[in-house]
Amino acid sequence: MSTIIHARYTMIDGVAQKDTAVYVDESKIVAIDSVDKLTALYPNAEVVGGDTYILSPSFTNAHDHGRALGTTSLGIPDSFLEVWLSQLGNVPHIPPYLAAVYEGLQLLKSGVTAVAHSHNPKTWQGMPDEIPESIRGYQDVGVRVAMHPPIIDQNTLIYIKRDQFIASLPSEIQKTIPITDGIDLTTDDYFDMLNALYETYHDTEQHRVHIQVSPAGGQWCSDNLIMRAVEWAKSRQTCVQMHMLETQYQRLYAHEKWGTSFIRHLDNIGALGDWLTLAHMVWVEDDDLDLLAERGVHVAHNISSNLRLRSGIAPIAQMLASSVNVGIGLDGHTLSDNQDYLHEMRLAWTMANQHSMDSGDVSASTIWQMGTHNATKMTFGHNAPLGKIQIGMLADLVLLDWQAIKGAWSPDDFPPSEFIPDFLLRRANHHHVRDVMVHGEWMIKAGKHQHIDEDAIASELKETLTQQVGDTSASLAPYIRKFYKDWSQSLPDNLSDLKR
Ligand SMILES: [Zn+2]
Repeated sequence: MSTIIHARYTMIDGVAQKDTAVYVDESKIVAIDSVDKLTALYPNAEVVGGDTYILSPSFTNAHDHGRALGTTSLGIPDSFLEVWLSQLGNVPHIPPYLAAVYEGLQLLKSGVTAVAHSHNPKTWQGMPDEIPESIRGYQDVGVRVAMHPPIIDQNTLIYIKRDQFIASLPSEIQKTIPITDGIDLTTDDYFDMLNALYETYHDTEQHRVHIQVSPAGGQWCSDNLIMRAVEWAKSRQTCVQMHMLETQYQRLYAHEKWGTSFIRHLDNIGALGDWLTLAHMVWVEDDDLDLLAERGVHVAHNISSNLRLRSGIAPIAQMLASSVNVGIGLDGHTLSDNQDYLHEMRLAWTMANQHSMDSGDVSASTIWQMGTHNATKMTFGHNAPLGKIQIGMLADLVLLDWQAIKGAWSPDDFPPSEFIPDFLLRRANHHHVRDVMVHGEWMIKAGKHQHIDEDAIASELKETLTQQVGDTSASLAPYIRKFYKDWSQSLPDNLSDLKR
């Protein structure tokens, strides 16, 4: 199967180029030239696209959880991260295969063909059964997945002073708190599961599935666990992903525990390297940015989630100025609860630029790179041939409806090509995604999946949720909020400048 794809503009390294068509043979980009030259060279190829389209590398969702629906849609209100997390146990259970297929459908229809999936298990001990089902869902829908099952071994209820927190609760709530502060999956069993998954699924040829490791967050993982994960990944040349510095309380935790920043502590134990992606990073300290760049650590930027969970705004402009590789992730928590990747890029771009005229600009081209090549590099590693329109790359491509983005009012040669990235980021959304190719195969044509019965999947999801409509009340929420407030106020003065 061979295809020539052409468009009014083709996005190459975040820049819109005219007269740039792509020839795809089997799974790869084999030639890039004008459509006339390619059709002369490859007369038997199918020719797709035209002047009413924009051609781009597809997008990579550099951090997510594959929940199928946003948590508001699942009945959990947005709040502070720590409060919101305490309610997550109330979300209805969606079988992992169904969740992955529905999630994958939304991602593809948003132009996303690859995702870093941090699994939210129904039960920790059930994870070895859930993960293969989730992978099977992504495989069937046609989305590449970097699967990193989570593991934690401490501070599950609250970051610090667990006994004090429990003592502050009314006795009827105290009775509901688990005795231990860990989880019911041992670290050894977790790594046994990872080994089995790695042997079965990790694919460095086609890059359909990667198996990675996720000590889920700095405050939830002991140093031993973090370093065991790092060694596991390094010895297999795969990646590590962690939630990091999502809230100001996590930054305070590090300073109170080690007298230094979380990043310096991770460096002290040897955890930083180009195998590591840190998600969120809202509360990273300016002094640590050069260190992150030096170590090659990647950052997954989750702007919507950080706003919805009242975490704050990550200093993306500063990270980019320090040459940290930053990619974009949706975290299952976009502003409109709909996994719209173009909208997420728009928000990331808008919020990255600052009010002072002496701050640098974060350009639309840079954001496009963050959504394509940068996000892919951190999700599948430096060696995966993904995320660019370039000869030899795997053909993961998206055609956007340029006519609809532009509007009927727009003169033929407006906007000029150097302004196209700005124009796209300000106006395009997931409704403009027309055709999506994964590994040389069209998975979405004219906005519809080519193999999956979307209505049947939606009905199945509705049926699953109908059986589970119930109580999502938040019994711990007010106590958690009060505890963190009191704790941060009680910290010594030398930590006060860490609070914003
Ligand atoms: Zn997350």
